[in-house]
Parts: sequence; structure tokens; C-alpha cells
Amino acid sequence: MLRRVAAIPLLTFLRRCLARPAWAAGDGPVRRARPSDPSWPSAARWDELNRAVGGNLIRLQSPLADCAVAADSALCQDVLENLKNPYYIGDQPGLTQTSGWVDAWISAPSAYAVAARTTADVVAAVNFAREHNLRLVVKGGGHSYQGTSNAADSLLIWTRAMNRMVLHDAFVGQGCEGVGAPQPAVTVEAGAIWMHVYNAVTTRAGRYVQGGGCVTVGVAGLIQSGGFGSFSKNYGTAAAGLLEAEIVTADGAVRIANACTNPELFWGIKGGGGGSLGVVTRLTLRTYELPSWFGIALLTIRAGSDAAFRHLIGRFIRFYGDTLFNPHWGESVAFRPSNILAVTMVSQGLDTQQVEDVWRPFLEWIAGSPQDFTLDKKPIIASLPARHLWDADFMREHVPGMVIADQRPGSPAGNVWWAGDQGQVGWFLHGYQSVWLPAALLDEDRQEAFADALFAATRRWAVALHFNKGLAGAPPHAITAAKDTAANPAVLTAFALAIIAGAGPPAYPGIPGRTPDLTAARRGAAAIDKAMAELWKLVPDAGSYVSEGNFFESNWQRSFWGANYPRLQAVKAKYDPDGLFFVHHGVGSEDWSDDGFTRLARR
Ligand SMILES: Cc1cc2nc3c(=O)[nH]c(=O)nc-3n(C[C@H](O)[C@H](O)[C@H](O)COP(=O)(O)OP(=O)(O)OC[C@H]3O[C@@H](n4cnc5c(N)ncnc54)[C@H](O)[C@@H]3O)c2cc1C
Repeated sequence: MLRRVAAIPLLTFLRRCLARPAWAAGDGPVRRARPSDPSWPSAARWDELNRAVGGNLIRLQSPLADCAVAADSALCQDVLENLKNPYYIGDQPGLTQTSGWVDAWISAPSAYAVAARTTADVVAAVNFAREHNLRLVVKGGGHSYQGTSNAADSLLIWTRAMNRMVLHDAFVGQGCEGVGAPQPAVTVEAGAIWMHVYNAVTTRAGRYVQGGGCVTVGVAGLIQSGGFGSFSKNYGTAAAGLLEAEIVTADGAVRIANACTNPELFWGIKGGGGGSLGVVTRLTLRTYELPSWFGIALLTIRAGSDAAFRHLIGRFIRFYGDTLFNPHWGESVAFRPSNILAVTMVSQGLDTQQVEDVWRPFLEWIAGSPQDFTLDKKPIIASLPARHLWDADFMREHVPGMVIADQRPGSPAGNVWWAGDQGQVGWFLHGYQSVWLPAALLDEDRQEAFADALFAATRRWAVALHFNKGLAGAPPHAITAAKDTAANPAVLTAFALAIIAGAGPPAYPGIPGRTPDLTAARRGAAAIDKAMAELWKLVPDAGSYVSEGNFFESNWQRSFWGANYPRLQAVKAKYDPDGLFFVHHGVGSEDWSDDGFTRLARR
């Protein structure tokens, strides 16, 4: 017995030494191995990894490789056609949903991918990357705008095949027995996308779960970035709905994280940014009672002059503050340089009569000034039974223009996506920036200055206000839950997230006819900078949403996490002291070169 007790510290010491590669102890710069380096693992070592992951190691090349040599070939044309389908892109370990960002990053396959089926596969891949000093990258749905699930010369852990789900009537986290009441919940493997979760939870089980608006976004990526869906103004952030996760940390340990077990790690993955703290393999999310109705308000108003447009902006802000600033209304409006206000808003808990009543005064005001304003077409203002919102069969039959189906032979009937998201499939970003707008801007005495700033920004670029991405106006329980996450506290008092973004068609350098137009891209980027500067003048201390933030943000720690950053750094230091997990502008990334291959000299 004494011998056993004495052996424990020795075992712990040995485990730590084995888990920490020799180079981690040094102070000097460290370079991760690339395929051209002598230290790159031999074919025999890759074979060993392949056996350890049940034959699921894939040597990657770009699906566009054929296009580089024969752009007219049938094979290439087939790939190019498929690049319009987010499900196809998601099924390719060598592609990403954004094809790149000018002067920031371009989509490039990793050297190898482990197409993980189980937690054990993830553990094997993490251990292999750590032991061989490889650049490691994790991809779920592949929707990162900033390219954080993309790195050439890396080993990719690809979770696409991990997508099982189970619903619970009364979930209790491990170690939380007797603490708080059991919760209705759904457990989802990390590679699942929201469409499949909504299908299981809402369409089939008649419950609600807080996920993302775009249905092909990955569950693990969205939760770790905080995450907003169309109805977050009522249900809060997606991260705040997390009850428990299983996560493989840099030492290869499989850990449970919840409010009772590893609570700091749990807090960190709720909004601390994906790909920085470990590989999440499984998540359990709270489910809620489904409201009876989801509604929509779609209208496009054209102003006849600059002065009329400025007037319209001011009037809409007042209307929003008086009538829509509550848990019922989410999604967005866009103010465009062409003097157009495009409304794409959604509601929860209101039937068709109620949504029509809400919008009538504003529509009457528009109709009262025909010399200044015209409606592009008849507005669509209506509700549908909530259970059908993500019901692919229902949507295809009743509102066929709103969804697009995955037409590949054999693809599941539920594989649809919002037509409104089509423009983002594969796009090449020129710029993408956001800022949280404090609710104080809706105060009577701030509205004019706010409208002026919006108008000034629209002289440079279109500005969208996403009301569901700010929690001011949400019920207290949603705000309290979001307070206990790593997301920037600015989200709690913001009534909207302003997004200014621009992009060109999908671009793939080296592929004839698909190369990016860099001149246009840089021109767009400069105009987006100028437009956003008008909003920063108004709210110089505001934060920005990590998933929808500027790749070039200089003060990213403060902008993405505000006062939460030091606490997030402490979580990183505890669970990944050697920086195995790196993403651009993720926690701890200041210790590494931009590409994550070289550790910078300690400061
Ligand atoms: C078309 C489009 C629409 C969007 N709509 C919304 C929206 O409605 N609301 C919103 O809040 N955001 C939205 N986003 C942003 C999106 O939610 C985030 O980019 C999110 O992180 C994407 O997750 P993913 O798994 O799809 O992407 P990925 O690129 O696969 O992952 C994103 C990040 O998370 C990491 N990651 C992924 N899986 C894991 C895992 N299992 N363990 C650890 N790290 C992991 C990756 O390494 C990467 O750093 C949208 C993005 C796009 C492109």
C-alpha cells in the first residue's frame, strides 16, 4: 500500500514528461515540422497513426487539383458545379466554406486529415501531433470566416463523421448530481451541423434548441464562438445553452467539462473561440419549449434622395426602439449605399395577425410619402407553425423559394439551406467587420447621432444591423446565462451587432477563370474600413464578435473578449501550456507567428 502511494507522484511526473515534448521545456523559438523537414514523421509513423484511427487517416489534396491541369475536363466542371453546395463543401476535408480573404488567408488543404469517428480517434490524432511537433488544426462545419479551420502543412482533425444525437427528458451533468434541477437536453457529437440538430429537436421532437441562423454551420464551432441564431433575442447565446461537453485536451486526456467538473474549461469553451483549448467531441445543450409561431417580415424600401434616405434611417431607428426592441424580434436590416433599406426580420411567439399589426404603422408611414419612398415589391409579413421552420419537406412544398436542396444523388431529403445564405457559399472575402452597438444609442437623445453615423457609413458601404446578435432587450434569464460565458460582456448591453462586409465570387488561385480579382478586393477592403470607421467614431470602446470580426483587428484580445481575456488566458495556460492548439487571433496566439508554425521568443 505504501509503495502504491509513493508511486503516484512518480507516475504523475512521468505522465507529464511523456505528454510534454522535449522542446516544450526550452525558451527559444520553436518551429513546428513541415513535410519538407527531416523531422516530419516517416511513412511508417503515418501508417501507425492510420491503424490507430481505424484506417481513417486521409492524405489530402485539393478537390480542385484536376482543375489546375484541365479546367475544361468533366471532372473539373463537376467539382465547380458542386462548389455552390455547402453540403458538398462540408463533405470535403480539403475545402472550406469561405474560399479565402484578400491578403489574409486562402483555402489550402492540410497534409493529412484524421476523419475522426470516435473520441479515441481524436485522442490518437492529438497525441500524434504533440509527439511529432505538428501544426494541428480542427474542422467541423468549416464556416470560419477567418480561416481558423484551415492550415497548409498541418494535421487536420476533421469531425464531420461524428454526428450522432440523443435527446434527454432530464439531463444531469457528470458530477452535478444533486446540484440544480435536471434539464431537458440534447447531446450532439461535435461534427453535427445545425440543420440536422433542428431536424431532430424541432421537426421530430417539437422542442427548441438555441443554435445558429445558417443551418450548415457546425455545432462545436458556433458554441465555442458564443453563437447567435435568429431567435437569440429570446433564448440567448448558443454557448449559454451548453450544459456539458467532452473535450480532448493537449495532453490527450478526455475530460468532461460542465458547471461542476472542470468548470473553468467549461467557461472557456463557452465563447472563448474554437480550436484554442482542445478538441470538443460531444456537447449537451439545453432544449426549451417550442413557441407556437415563427414569423417573418421581408420588405425593401427605396428612398428617392439622400435626404429621404437619412430621414428613413432615423424613422426606422425610432420604430425599432419603440416596437421591435423586445424578445420577439431578431435577424437584420441592411442600409445600402443605393439608398435602400432591406428588412429581413423574424419573430417568435407572434401569429400572422400580430406580426401584421406590429408592422402596420411603419408601412403606413412609408405609404404616406410616395414622393420619397417606394416599396420594391409587396412586403411578406406572415407566421408559420414553429415546428415547420426547419421541416425541409414543408418548406420545399410551401415556400420553395426560401430553401435550396442538396441535389447530389443519395443525399438526405433534409439537406437544405436558406436561399438567403447562397451568396456566402464559397465566397472570397474583401472585408468582414463587426461592432456591438450599445442600447444607449436607442435613447431619444442619441438617435440622431446614431442615424447620422449610419448614413455616413452607407456612403462608403452597406451596413447591416443584426438585432439577434446583441442581448439588450432579451429576458433576464438569457442575459444572466450569457454573463457566465467567455464572450465579450459587450454583448450583454448591445441591442445589435453592426456588420459591414463585402466579398467576390469563390476564388481559387491557380485555377483558370477562378483567380481572385485582387484589385477589386483591395478597393472593397479600403471602403469597408472607411465605413466601419464611421461607427467606431460613435462607439470607440465597443467590442466585436470573434466569429464575425476583422481578420486584421489589432486589439483583438480586447475587441473579442474584453475584460474576460485574462481569465481565458489562465484557462489556456492550465489546459494547453505549450500551445498545441493555435488559431489566428485565438487565446494564446500572441506567442506564435501568424501561421502558427513558429513560437516567438518569450517576451
Ligand atoms: C455562411 C455563414 C453563416 C454564419 N451564420 C452565423 C450565425 O447565424 N450566427 C453566428 O453566431 N455565427 C454565424 N457564422 C459564423 C460561424 O458560426 C462561426 O464561424 C463558427 O465558428 C463556425 O463553426 P464551424 O464548425 O462551421 O466552422 P469551422 O471552420 O469548422 O470551425 C470554426 C472554429 O472552431 C474550431 N472548431 C470546430 N470544431 C471544433 C471542435 N470539435 N473542437 C474544437 N474546436 C473546433 C475550428 O478549429 C475553428 O477555429 C456564420 C458563418 C458563415 C460562413
